[in-house]
Amino acid sequence: MITLKSYICGEWQTGGGAGRALHHAVTGEQIASCSTEGFDFEAMLEYGRNVGGPALRAMTFPQRGELLKKMAGVLNGHLEEFYEIAAAYGATKRDAWMDVEGGIGTLFVYSSLGRKALPDSSFIVDGEVAGLSKEGTFVGRHIRVPLEGVAVQINAFNFPAWGMLEKLASSLLAGMPALVKPATSTAWLAYRMVERLIESGVMPEGTLQLVCGSVGDLLHHMTCQDVLGFTGSASVGCKLKSHPNLVANSVRFNMEADSLNCIMLGHDVAADSPTFGKFVREILNEMRVKAGQKCTAIRRILVPADREQAVIEAITAKLSGTVVGDPAVEGVKMGPLVNRSALRDAREGIAVLSEECEIVHGDPDRSDFEGADGEKGSFLEPILLRCKDAASAVKVHEVEVFGPVATVIGYADDDQALALARKGGGSLVATLYSEDEALARKLTFGLAPFHGRLMVMNEQASGESTGHGVAMPQLVHGGPGRAGGGEELGGLRSVYHYMQRTALQGTPERLEAICSV
Ligand code: NAP
Repeated sequence: MITLKSYICGEWQTGGGAGRALHHAVTGEQIASCSTEGFDFEAMLEYGRNVGGPALRAMTFPQRGELLKKMAGVLNGHLEEFYEIAAAYGATKRDAWMDVEGGIGTLFVYSSLGRKALPDSSFIVDGEVAGLSKEGTFVGRHIRVPLEGVAVQINAFNFPAWGMLEKLASSLLAGMPALVKPATSTAWLAYRMVERLIESGVMPEGTLQLVCGSVGDLLHHMTCQDVLGFTGSASVGCKLKSHPNLVANSVRFNMEADSLNCIMLGHDVAADSPTFGKFVREILNEMRVKAGQKCTAIRRILVPADREQAVIEAITAKLSGTVVGDPAVEGVKMGPLVNRSALRDAREGIAVLSEECEIVHGDPDRSDFEGADGEKGSFLEPILLRCKDAASAVKVHEVEVFGPVATVIGYADDDQALALARKGGGSLVATLYSEDEALARKLTFGLAPFHGRLMVMNEQASGESTGHGVAMPQLVHGGPGRAGGGEELGGLRSVYHYMQRTALQGTPERLEAICSV
């Protein structure tokens, strides 16, 4: 068993008391503990502001891009170790790849942005000169400068690597030092990554701090120059968003929360068509990858009512062959949930959904799994539900079961399909399958206002598709409403989140001199 330390104020420190426990997802045994008891959270912020901030602001964008590239290089040198740790959370090799190498890939994409798309300076001149006077002696122009505080991250358990690295990519490139707080249950992976980065010497002093455990009174000490990036459940996110100090100081806050993502089968797609097969494959992927513990996973499957049975039969036929168990055992396709508490939550969520749905595949209480003790590990086989009455169902649009669980909902016509999709109250991503161009266009404009990303699929696109659940660093990751209203990824916009846009006014000559690189 290991004790996870925190890297704060330039040194590794251990909190007092017994700390919080981390458990192995397959065996249920305690594997680590961590504590932040006795830590001075204000000092951490001050350290980042006074040591890390100036170091980063002295660097140009290409130099910061170079830093991201070096970080990616360091982490790439320790992949095997990261995969071993991810296995303790129940990740299959593929699950771990998404988290670990997906995160490293994001560093590379933002590194390239810094080295190729941003100026050789430490700030950005934004837009053209605006004429403000008759004689032209008084003009305006915008610049973007890094905020001078700390970019605090509070991350979800399901992507301990990617969740940290994707936020670091934007904030470090913008010129802000970071303080990372991984979710406790999977903090070991983030801890080991930070350890490797710090010991490599690539991180300028003060640019990366790590807190393993609770955040104490950290939020209380944040100022208008700090940024809080939160990923996790909508309930915790809303609580943090309304923290009195964050509200009073207008601390910039980005929330990536849960969402009831949907996939929709266009009314034009016949049950015996190749497009139908691709649609089913997309659903199976989303239910099984990371045992459905993805914020982007498909939770609602919207299909024409007359094809509901065909969809259920096609999905269940494949789900029946899914081997669930210890990912270390040959042939296992899906691992456990992260811990027993997540399993309990998932079972409770299924019970709530069952008030208006019937289970058409899977047993939430099953306990025999490949190579593992189901009473000790946190296994849940894929569960497919069918909504009994689409017109009146409510819970299916509100309750996110964070596991391999999805519900088929039959719709009567296109308008009802759209109305049902929108009942999710804003989601990270939706996918549409249709071969009908006019229908695809109509549904796109009906879905777009409620989604951060929309896959407008047909058979042709499915060959090279990156998949419904995969957030791409080049594209928006975030969604309106329930999904948090944020935009964590998406190229320059996510970098700008850590910068102040300031309008300068003065003579053209003076502004030219200030803005010249
Ligand atoms: P969670 O329970 O909301 O926890 C998220 C983070 O908040 C953890 O680091 C947790 O720390 C911390 N936290 C909890 N209470 C806090 C408090 N009072 N003050 C400060 N920090 C607090 O979510 P989770 O169970 O880790 O993750 C699953 C959820 O995240 C799902 O709902 C999923 O949809 C969502 N998610 C969203 C995205 C996205 O990009 N939109 C990505 C991944 C996951 P401890 O672990 O130490 O309690």
